[in-house]
Amino acid sequence: MVESAVASAREILTGLHDVMAGRGTAQSKLDHVVDLIADKMASEVCSIYVMRDNMLELYATHGLNKDAVHVTRLGLGEGLVGTIAEQTRVLNLEEASAHPQFSYRPETGEEHFHSFAGIPIVRREAPIGVLTVQHEDSRKYEDVEIEALQTVAMVMSEMLANAGIADGTRGRSRSSGEQQLGGLQLVTGMARGKAVFHQPKVTVEHTVAEDTEAERARVYAAFRKMREQIDNMTRDAEFGTTGEHEEILETYKMFAYDEGWARRINEAIDSGLTAEAAIERVQQHTRTRMKEIDDPLLAERMHDLEDLSNRLLRIVAGRMTTAAQTGLDEDTILIARNLGPAELLEYDRRRLKGVVLQEGSLTSHVTIVARAMGVPTVGKIEDIRHIANDGDEILVDGDQGSICVRPSRTTIDSFDMRMATTQKRRAEYAALKDQPAETIDGVRIQLMVNAGLPEDAAQLAANGAEGIGLFRTEFQFLIAARLPGRESQQKLYKDVLDAAGDRPVIFRTLDIGGDKALPYLNEKDEAENPAMGWRALRLSLDRKALMKAQARALIEAAGGRHLRVMFPMVSEPWEFEEARQLFEKEVQWLRDRKRVLPTVIEYGCMLEVPSLAEMLDQLLPRLDFLSIGTNDLTQFLFAADRADPRLADRYDWLSPSILRFLKRIVGQCKEANVPVRVCGEMGGRPPEALALIAIGMEAFSVTPAALGPLKAMIHSLDASAARREFEGLLADPPKMFREAVIDWARQQAVDLS
Ligand code: PEP
Ligand code: MG
Repeated sequence: MVESAVASAREILTGLHDVMAGRGTAQSKLDHVVDLIADKMASEVCSIYVMRDNMLELYATHGLNKDAVHVTRLGLGEGLVGTIAEQTRVLNLEEASAHPQFSYRPETGEEHFHSFAGIPIVRREAPIGVLTVQHEDSRKYEDVEIEALQTVAMVMSEMLANAGIADGTRGRSRSSGEQQLGGLQLVTGMARGKAVFHQPKVTVEHTVAEDTEAERARVYAAFRKMREQIDNMTRDAEFGTTGEHEEILETYKMFAYDEGWARRINEAIDSGLTAEAAIERVQQHTRTRMKEIDDPLLAERMHDLEDLSNRLLRIVAGRMTTAAQTGLDEDTILIARNLGPAELLEYDRRRLKGVVLQEGSLTSHVTIVARAMGVPTVGKIEDIRHIANDGDEILVDGDQGSICVRPSRTTIDSFDMRMATTQKRRAEYAALKDQPAETIDGVRIQLMVNAGLPEDAAQLAANGAEGIGLFRTEFQFLIAARLPGRESQQKLYKDVLDAAGDRPVIFRTLDIGGDKALPYLNEKDEAENPAMGWRALRLSLDRKALMKAQARALIEAAGGRHLRVMFPMVSEPWEFEEARQLFEKEVQWLRDRKRVLPTVIEYGCMLEVPSLAEMLDQLLPRLDFLSIGTNDLTQFLFAADRADPRLADRYDWLSPSILRFLKRIVGQCKEANVPVRVCGEMGGRPPEALALIAIGMEAFSVTPAALGPLKAMIHSLDASAARREFEGLLADPPKMFREAVIDWARQQAVDLS
């Protein structure tokens, strides 16, 4: 029996191919199929159950009572067949009736049969049927027999889909129930839309090969291409965007060159499958094996292998484009393992309603870009790419850091209600927009916004911001396919200044490198830790032509107006000096040519590298303003990569160490009479902003969505009481620092919502 099962796997497929290609109704084809399988596998019973109206209906059988066809129906989770479908898991039983889920159906006459094996028939990861075999004698089926049946089940899936007789095979929606998933809150806001995979999943449409050798050649070619891609990624070190990529690449490489994997795919092709079906078949097999091993480390590896397997599938199917390149045609929730900021910027903002990442961290640049785009984002939803199907409805709750896949009507209704409440709250915030941000005891706080997209400046009046405290000029570079020329830079800066009118705009010079890699500025020998590498001002000072072009674009754009320039990642005062001199030289050059120059140029510095804090006595007298970039600063203070999802929620911004550090800086700036502001994400969160005000910070540049909540907090805060409280909290910090701050705010009725 075992021998014949192996030998006949190919024969069954050939037979199935003929049945599928032949004429006849779905019923007659399935009747044919059960006879064929029973015969080739020397099985006493073979039956096919098909999911119809959410019930598994006995659709065809060889060996059971024919009168039971279309009569015997089981719900998901009911009996052995229902259990197999619900869990999309194989059952292989010596004695069927001994299984706790066994449900006896007298009309089938199955009491004579003891052994039982059932295989789920799956389409787009949802069950659409079950294939079973039964025997009179009591024995377990061999692995090879089960494998042969799994291959057959895959072909059955195509057959049922073609016939359109199973649920979910007619339309796009394949309901497999609502799933609530918790993750990491990255960008606030609520969104509803249809799931779209950044890298589309390939649905295997054709399973039985016409020409086995041609399929083999396709797989070989795809393997070659995939290995080439992985090698390039390793060489360029620009794959993915963040943290763990080193480790992932190593695993990718290991799998890509794994002969065992290639051999198994080859064997699946031998059995008569197409290249796509063979890859998928081997993947299913590995997935099942891995499920049996309960090891989190292996589960991680499994994700990597799935990634690679999907990549191989996409290569074979010729679908290497991302969803951005294909275009979005409805409200979309984008799903990805991770994304680079440039990749996200490629999407149409009008259609992109939310983002769900398998990884993701709060201060990675993709999150900052998502925030700038106003797209609610949730990260660390580990199983998202397996749970969601393309086109599934998804609710994203960026306020709570959770999502709901395939929500029920009730869930949608309550989500919509909460969304309406949030909108009401937003309307209340909007009503505050023209009121000054002043605390109860009269401390005036300056609230500006972070921006970077051309349309951001136009929003200033609408959201009541006092200006742009950080204009990330690199966004233009990230969107572009090639280096933007001086004219296009100048046009953008001029448009921004025009739109901002009297409100100040602080332009930060290029901050590229790190996780903001530009594909067209590919540095082959990127360091292992790019966040601490050759980026931002370091790169600009070495690539003077780049910086000169930007300087000239800024100076000319601000002709006749006030220009404010800020340099990122200054680590030592001389870097600031050199950058400033470069600008001054450009001013001179333009002056010599009688161009209209800015009326005033202010030069500021970002403090995001801790070493600079020790040199403030030297630097402050030469500065017009200082801006604290807490995103980078905290990653360096804690030595915790801001893009590493494993560290995303490990350290708290509301920490005595950060606040003590910043308090010293604020004090020094005040003494030197140099304006200081916070422009990192920390300042946009009401509890953190409260703490910053308590240590003397009076100017913030935040994400636009944070303006309302911050103003509400400021209006309800007594700054001097906060100062007093924080003196105690910082002198003798309680263990639960955040809780202590929140408790105090609650007692004082400070609005932290
Ligand atoms: C920062 O580091 O805090 C900052 C504002 O700059 P970016 O996030 O763009 O690195
Ligand atoms: Mg920074």
